[in-house]
Amino acid sequence: MYTEKIEMLINGRWCQGSEGKTQPLTNPATEDILTDVPHASESDLEEAIQASADGFKVWRDVTPLDRQAIMEKAARLMEDRIDDIAKTLTLEMGKPLAEAKGEMSFVIDATRWYGEEGKRAYGRLVPARVPGARQMVVKEPVGPACAFVAWNFPGTNVIRKVAGALAAGCSMLIKPSEETPGTAVAIARCFQDAGLPDGVLNVVFGVPDEVSRKVLGSWVPRKMSFTGSIPVGKHLQKLAADTMKRCTMELGGHSPVIVFEDADVEKALKVAAGFKYRNAGQVCISPTRFFIQDKAYKSFVDGFAERAQAIKVGNGMDDGVQMGPLIDARRLPIMEDFVSDAQTHGAKVVTGGERIGNQGYFYAPTVLSDVPDEAKIMNDEPFGPIAPITHFNTFDEVVERANSLPFGLASYVFTSDGDRAAKISQVLDTGLVGVNHPMVATPETPFGGVNESGYGSEGGIEGLDAFLRTKFITEMGV
Ligand code: NAD
Repeated sequence: MYTEKIEMLINGRWCQGSEGKTQPLTNPATEDILTDVPHASESDLEEAIQASADGFKVWRDVTPLDRQAIMEKAARLMEDRIDDIAKTLTLEMGKPLAEAKGEMSFVIDATRWYGEEGKRAYGRLVPARVPGARQMVVKEPVGPACAFVAWNFPGTNVIRKVAGALAAGCSMLIKPSEETPGTAVAIARCFQDAGLPDGVLNVVFGVPDEVSRKVLGSWVPRKMSFTGSIPVGKHLQKLAADTMKRCTMELGGHSPVIVFEDADVEKALKVAAGFKYRNAGQVCISPTRFFIQDKAYKSFVDGFAERAQAIKVGNGMDDGVQMGPLIDARRLPIMEDFVSDAQTHGAKVVTGGERIGNQGYFYAPTVLSDVPDEAKIMNDEPFGPIAPITHFNTFDEVVERANSLPFGLASYVFTSDGDRAAKISQVLDTGLVGVNHPMVATPETPFGGVNESGYGSEGGIEGLDAFLRTKFITEMGV
């Protein structure tokens, strides 16, 4: 049962769109309509923008200690409500309930971490060249912020923006995905119920392009943070340029996984196959191009296929399900096209390669072997449960192939040779590198890509800094 009431939050008021427009929300596992999602009218958006300007003036003057107290209270409310929020998340997005709970644990953790870190927005004193002068570098909140986020992590994508902004003293106007609105609404309710002043957090829905044009066309937001695809990211950055907003861009990736012959192949299989099918492969840091050194190739392909076949696919609400559906029907033909294109390039379908059933957007965990670098799936982000595997011979060759795309988000390496691990970590052209394990996303470490995967970090001290600006003050005679 989907229980979350989908409303927008504008200036502390929960509301529907003033013109009554809505869109249906679909459960990707059953294709049932769960509820309606309100759309903001132009005047609703103007009100939300004004509310975020007013909310900022209130929130920037709240001390970091008092901000942290509200954030801690919000985190406790999320803990109390975790079972209900996780159900909402699974029903609207499809991932297994255990994964949804895990995601909400991250959300709670990040809320707490940012709340504490907000107390440490330190500046510094710089010795002056002029006698009697006092030179100070201070950090202050960048201003009202706005964010647009994708559906694949309905909680994580939202909290990385909201908690970073609130900890720094910024207000936030966010448009979560219309495909996964309930998780964001439930999180926002926790902040409101924890005593966040009106207007500090505003949540709207609508036609994405209309909302982003209106919000980014306004001078009020001084910062824009986006999680989503590269083409949409480029479009939003152009819109943000006219009013010189600072941007954080968390965009797509196409992460190489490099397994050397000296690696513990069993361990590499366990880690990489588990991670590949998490969230049905709809993860920006999902492993997506598997390069296996020649001698380990055959056992890796066989082991990977065995693991893929053992995955229990189904409705995320059902016990024991390990992988849910894709987010929407539009993703199914994209998967089919990746597989048929790879086959025409000479790849073999080792397992999967087809839709499961005809209700719900399920696609089988798929393994492709002998996939040449020219195949579409080795160049376009799959964002689905397909593992294309190829082999390599030398260190230099694999580095060149791994670095050959414009993406630069994550990369993974499996080796037992310390020198090799150190050397390859330095030359891989990505913002995140995991050696022998995949944990590249925690609240306390910077998360973000390079090249077309975007720029700026979320998490870590860098994630707080993204919502701060630097001011230099020099004083004399005071
Ligand atoms: P998409 O680009 O159509 O949409 C991605 C997200 O961007 C959606 O949540 C959508 O609401 C939002 N969006 C789209 N147009 C927008 C606009 N003009 N203004 C504001 N927001 C807008 O892609 P899709 O079909 O939903 O997903 C598949 C692709 O999206 C993949 O290629 C993948 O790279 C990318 N994606 C990346 C991430 C990530 O975490 N980096 C998350 C989800 C999707």
